[in-house]
Amino acid sequence: MRRLRRIILFLLLGAVVNVLVAWACARWGSIPLGNGIGTKIAIEATPDAAAKELHFVASECEYVSYYQNTEETWAGVRREYTRWITCINPDYSPWEYSWMQWGWPCVSMQYEVAGEYPWPNQVPGWKGGWPLSNRDRSVLHSYGFLPGNAYPLVPLPLGFTLNTLFYAALLFLPFATFTTLRRRRRIRRNLCPSCGYSLTGAVPTNNIITCPECGIIREQTLTTT
Ligand SMILES: [Zn+2]
Repeated sequence: MRRLRRIILFLLLGAVVNVLVAWACARWGSIPLGNGIGTKIAIEATPDAAAKELHFVASECEYVSYYQNTEETWAGVRREYTRWITCINPDYSPWEYSWMQWGWPCVSMQYEVAGEYPWPNQVPGWKGGWPLSNRDRSVLHSYGFLPGNAYPLVPLPLGFTLNTLFYAALLFLPFATFTTLRRRRRIRRNLCPSCGYSLTGAVPTNNIITCPECGIIREQTLTTT
């Protein structure tokens, strides 16, 4: 019971750290645009959410094409779908729909963003994200062509699980080391390994000592002096 409670506690702490790290990645990390505009694809090849935003046919437009691109940094991944149209007037008009995924070591949280280049001059549409303040954004993205960051709010099942386990283990390690060392030291000094109460003079029953202080915890090894 106590062990189960401890496991749940560390998993919760791991999840909290995981979310904080993902937000820190979104806040201070960046995903610059890769080389070129990506691979040309058919509109049918885009995910439904993106297709809904990107599908566009206008009679005055000479040329409409769709691209897919994935950029990755230590802080996150952008899965990006763009539409480029060439019209008689005005000329190039790119439009983007992206899944912005943040976190370390795996990407664990995401938001979706849709809008017109260049960012962040145009107000983008957000989904599942809490946009950073304009002040923060202008510092981060003083140059254009970057989606202004938001704090991601939607967990990615696999990445969220892996990161939570990773941080839970990371937090548990120093805790486990400390309790193991303390337990050994207490046994060596003939103290109760659980609460530290002195067991000198305690009478063992069937080689088991019941701690008079905390009662429940028993210790089989008997160090007689
Ligand atoms: Zn005790």
